[in-house]
Amino acid sequence: MSVPTRNELWTKVQQLLQKNLSKPSYETWIRPAEFLDFKDGRLTLLAPNSFSSDWLRKNYSQKIEEIATEIHGHEVKIYIKVKEEFSSNKSDKKKTFSDLENNAIHARDNSEVKSKQAPTKKFLPGLNLRYVFNRFVVGPNSRMAHAAAMAVAEAPGREFNPLFICGGVGLGKTHLMQSIGHYRLEIDPQAKVAYVSTETFTNDLIVAIRKDGMQAFRNRYREADLILVDDIQFIEGKEYTQEEFFHTFNALHEAGRQIVLTSDRPPSQIPRLQERLISRFSMGLIADIQAPDLETRMAILQKKAEHERMRLPRDLIQFIAGRFTSNIRELEGAFTRAVAFASITGLPMTVESVAPMLDPTGQGVEVKPKQVLEKVAEVFGVTEEEMRSPSRRRPVSQARQVGMYLMRHGTDLSLPRIGESFGGKDHTTVMYAIEQVEKKLSSEPQLASQVQKVKDLLQIDSRKRR
Ligand code: ADP
Ligand code: MG
Repeated sequence: MSVPTRNELWTKVQQLLQKNLSKPSYETWIRPAEFLDFKDGRLTLLAPNSFSSDWLRKNYSQKIEEIATEIHGHEVKIYIKVKEEFSSNKSDKKKTFSDLENNAIHARDNSEVKSKQAPTKKFLPGLNLRYVFNRFVVGPNSRMAHAAAMAVAEAPGREFNPLFICGGVGLGKTHLMQSIGHYRLEIDPQAKVAYVSTETFTNDLIVAIRKDGMQAFRNRYREADLILVDDIQFIEGKEYTQEEFFHTFNALHEAGRQIVLTSDRPPSQIPRLQERLISRFSMGLIADIQAPDLETRMAILQKKAEHERMRLPRDLIQFIAGRFTSNIRELEGAFTRAVAFASITGLPMTVESVAPMLDPTGQGVEVKPKQVLEKVAEVFGVTEEEMRSPSRRRPVSQARQVGMYLMRHGTDLSLPRIGESFGGKDHTTVMYAIEQVEKKLSSEPQLASQVQKVKDLLQIDSRKRR
């Protein structure tokens, strides 16, 4: 084998890493790194931005050095530069990458955040005290989102603006998002952090319009240094809210404030979302959270047990983690039930004693269309048959519309499938129903509270079901 030329060295290292790393890791971090120079045992690479240079340094430099040394036959040291910094054109006013680097260096210690995340005195209503970084278990499913969240908390308004976190229900989006708020406040207790659900934003807007308080509304939202908007997918189809949010977004973004959004899907897949919002939402970083693997689920339970000062046998943790695979909220619920069960019955915390209670009986833990029908019927005082019938009686059609709305937001069912659950209604009927409910929710408090009641019931149900 001939001694590799400079460029070949990096290509070979890449090839080896490609075999050793998962595809996303390789594609995200290794492949984009370009060769710059190899001299006197110094291999210099160019990372596309400071975030990835940090990431490479932190997570891969040792490995790269080892492999390169092996291929080269003499010790190789690796240096990573940032492409934007390196290429002389740095006129971009906002992005001072070196600043970011300096600020963000210790953000990348993703294994455990060392900073104490004790609730600061500046506790903000709306931020859950449990949702802090050091109670968030990082797994391969969330590594990137977590790293980006840390970076944003440390250097807001710089590189990833907006940060768009997406992932399925119960996978930790809200937790991660609020962690950013807590951490930001810890670093800068004066920071103006605003956490708001999309629902609240919409409701505030409606109140502002009615009471003619638009200026106050705008001031409130445009004043934030860091704004966290949860579940932005609920903005779908709400034209006026989208309009206002667009302006809020622009005002904040232009002022260099940090925006963080969460959604159950990427911007381009949110239906009935204005093009210009899709493009705004996509202009920073879209980081997704996937379902956690078994090991991560076990680590999450382990951590929870530690926080509750419980000692659970490993096989029990493994057992629970093996059963609840796609939703961490469900996983936590199962854990809590197991603990409660054991303490009430006085039985030991073992797989044998707890298993019967957690064993699936064929019923899913996710909300089922059947449950939606059941609970809506209960709260609205109609029967399930009536909801499936063509009856146009007002209480019935109201309940039916709410049922459709809740199925849309609580299950994965498509519009036509939702129609089927209501005795074969057309999908346009379903769409109309959902729109109606969305509209009425803000103007009819009684309806809103009934809907909330069903939601509560369903959540309790989904926790107790097994
Ligand atoms: P989402 O907003 O994506 O629906 P949440 O952030 O509400 O999910 O998370 C659901 C529950 O699971 C919360 O109690 C949260 O603390 C917990 N959780 C989610 N992800 C993690 C994680 N990686 N480590 C520890 N707990 C987690
Ligand atoms: Mg959430």
